[in-house]
Amino acid sequence: MSKPSTYPTKLTPNFSYREMTRSNTAIRHGIDNTPNPTELANLIYTAEQLEKVRAYLNDKHKRPIGIMVSSGFRNERVNTLVNGSKNSAHKLGLAADCDATGFTSSTFAKEIVEMRDKGLIAFDQLILEYPNRGDGAWVHIGFKKDGKGQRNQVLTAVKRGKKTVYLQGLQENAK
Ligand SMILES: [Zn+2]
Repeated sequence: MSKPSTYPTKLTPNFSYREMTRSNTAIRHGIDNTPNPTELANLIYTAEQLEKVRAYLNDKHKRPIGIMVSSGFRNERVNTLVNGSKNSAHKLGLAADCDATGFTSSTFAKEIVEMRDKGLIAFDQLILEYPNRGDGAWVHIGFKKDGKGQRNQVLTAVKRGKKTVYLQGLQENAK
C-alpha cells in the first residue's frame, strides 16, 4: 500500500499520513487501505483535533507528550475484518484510536473530557475502550464531518460475555 504522490507525508506537523492510515490487518490481507480525497480531508481534520490534544497536554504537564495512533482510517473491508462497528467513524477518516505517552488510557481520556469541559475541543464520541485490559485498553475519539452536530458523548466499552456493552461516562473500574 503506497501513498498516492499527491497526498501529503504529514497530515499535520505531528501526525503522518502513514500512522493515520496504516493497518496491520490491511497488510496481512493485502488490502489497499488508501483513503479517497474526501476521506483524506477528514483524516486531516482528525489529525488537527489530535494536535489540539497534544498541545494541551504538553502545555499542562510541561513535558513533551506523544500521542500514538493505533488505528485511524479503515476502509470497509478493513473495518469489517477488525470487527469495527458498521457505522464506524473510522470508515470516514473521522476517528482515531490512540494513547498518550505516560498516561493510562483512562487518565488520557479524562484529559480530553477536561478539554471538552473547558470548551477547547468538541467531539462526537470519546470511548474508553476496555479499561479492564490495562495496557490493552485504548481511547477512541470520533468526530462528525466539519465538526457539525457533534454529540460530545463519553462512553466506556466493556465486554460482557462476547458482547461489547457501552456504559455512560468514563468508568475506569468497569468490568
Ligand atoms: Zn476506534
